[in-house]
Amino acid sequence: MKTAEIIDVLHKISARIEKEKDFLTELDNVIGDGDHGINMARGFRAVDEKLNGLSEKTPADVLKAVGIALVSTVGGASGPLYGTGFMRMGGALDGKDDIAIGDFAEALKGAVEGISSRGRSHQGEKTMLDSMIPALKTIEECLSEGGSAKKALESGCKAAWDGVEYTKTIAATKGRASYLGERSIGHQDPGATSFSMMLEVLKESV
Ligand code: ADP
Ligand code: MG
Repeated sequence: MKTAEIIDVLHKISARIEKEKDFLTELDNVIGDGDHGINMARGFRAVDEKLNGLSEKTPADVLKAVGIALVSTVGGASGPLYGTGFMRMGGALDGKDDIAIGDFAEALKGAVEGISSRGRSHQGEKTMLDSMIPALKTIEECLSEGGSAKKALESGCKAAWDGVEYTKTIAATKGRASYLGERSIGHQDPGATSFSMMLEVLKESV
């Protein structure tokens, strides 16, 4: 994928987030403060506008710009976390013009590390990481077995959604949902859901 295709996927992600705004907000209403959809839509509206000026930039610069847009427009926890994630993805792609699936796996790994360190969070705490980490592991496994980009993204996407289901079974220990403790069990995590949606858009575009 070159810059033009990456920008196209990011436009599609913005559209998907806008479409899912109410759903993501409803999920956050149950275990948080009911703003995840609003936060994500505000951030990706800023991303969408910024993309128009980035067609001559490298993939790394595009993803870094997305990260900066998210950090600077989203007030909630998800803005700095996803912002860090996109910036780290950009950092992992420095010097590359054409992004292969192996590069994407490297970039996603950087995003997971960045979010985990910024959020002081790990798998099993009912956060976006519960979708991101299984997706990353599955993509890496699929590629190491010689799987295609399409296959890797399909299985990674399934792992991400399985991660969303898993978040229903555990209590939150990070983020606002942790205030509910055991009462957060039974409800899916909004951030794990929004990540799975973004990965799904990428999968559908490949
Ligand atoms: P806020 O919690 O500030 O209202 P949002 O509602 O936009 O922000 O985002 C909530 C989502 O952020 C959660 O569903 C969870 O996935 C994610 N999240 C919160 N805290 C952390 C953390 N420490 N590490 C990783 N993800 C987190
Ligand atoms: Mg919230």
